[in-house]
Amino acid sequence: MTTAIRAACVIGWPVEHSRSPLIHNYWLKRYGIAGEYRRELVPREEFAAFVGSLAARGYVGANVTLPHKEAALALSEPDKRAREIGAANTLWLDGGVLRSTNTDVEGFLDNLDACVPNWDRNASKAVVLGAGGAARAVIYGLLARGVGRIVVVNRTLGRAELLRQTFGTRVQVARWDELTAALADASLLVNTTTLGMHGQPALAVDLARLPGHAVVADLVYAPVLTPLLAAAKARDLRTTDGLGMLLHQAVRGFALWFGKNPEVTAELRTLVEADFAASGEKRAG
Ligand code: NAP
Repeated sequence: MTTAIRAACVIGWPVEHSRSPLIHNYWLKRYGIAGEYRRELVPREEFAAFVGSLAARGYVGANVTLPHKEAALALSEPDKRAREIGAANTLWLDGGVLRSTNTDVEGFLDNLDACVPNWDRNASKAVVLGAGGAARAVIYGLLARGVGRIVVVNRTLGRAELLRQTFGTRVQVARWDELTAALADASLLVNTTTLGMHGQPALAVDLARLPGHAVVADLVYAPVLTPLLAAAKARDLRTTDGLGMLLHQAVRGFALWFGKNPEVTAELRTLVEADFAASGEKRAG
């Protein structure tokens, strides 16, 4: 008699760049679980049919990446956080029901907790750069953890205004030219824009006004040490990087699909970091 292998996948278009297979297959091996985690390249117009046939394809669940995160929400039973964020990145079959959540929230918070314990003890004000999908997850998490005030700074002011409408009066909006002033009494600065990513313009922020106790978090993970984080470290500020968040956001999916709460180890971080470095070398070469 053969035992059925539990399988999950990441669905995207493109999907080749996803490090989720590296992360989940590391955990499968580490915990001796007979499972598989694969990449599935699925175009937008085929996503609904693909998700509808997850069980028939032998999958117990999936991660969802661009451009499918909103469609994943619409095609599943989302939890409260996925609904409020407006996007789902993790799907799982619960009996016959396809459920979804957004694990960027705990990815962000768990990484902060791991790197800067008690970061939220006196976190009265955070400044969030960006107003896209990642910003929504970060703001949801910061509000849940009791941060008093969140100032959102975004190139397109209207998108930041939308976040204020969604999340309420603890969220305020400021323009880029008001950023330096906004940093003066902030205990946390979070970059959720794509600025600083390989191939994107650098993020130019003057950190001189940030208080010495402030924490700087960057969601960008390629490169891992972004110019923003380098500037924060040069000022001896505490930091958290996007790679840590990427690893922590994967924990819940693995637990849901494979029944084990996996650990984010230094070995896993080194493995993924080496993979990023290798692809950086390829790009440069
Ligand atoms: P998104 O929805 O496309 O939002 C992109 C954000 O970047 C928007 O606020 C956009 O401003 C801003 N932006 C882009 N180009 C800009 C420029 N030239 N100048 C100023 N602002 C610019 O993307 P997302 O899904 O939120 O992802 C954002 C970043 O977070 C990406 O780097 C992604 O890789 C990272 N991320 C990391 C993790 C992790 O686990 N570490 C998880 C999720 C996301 P406008 O509104 O004005 O266009």
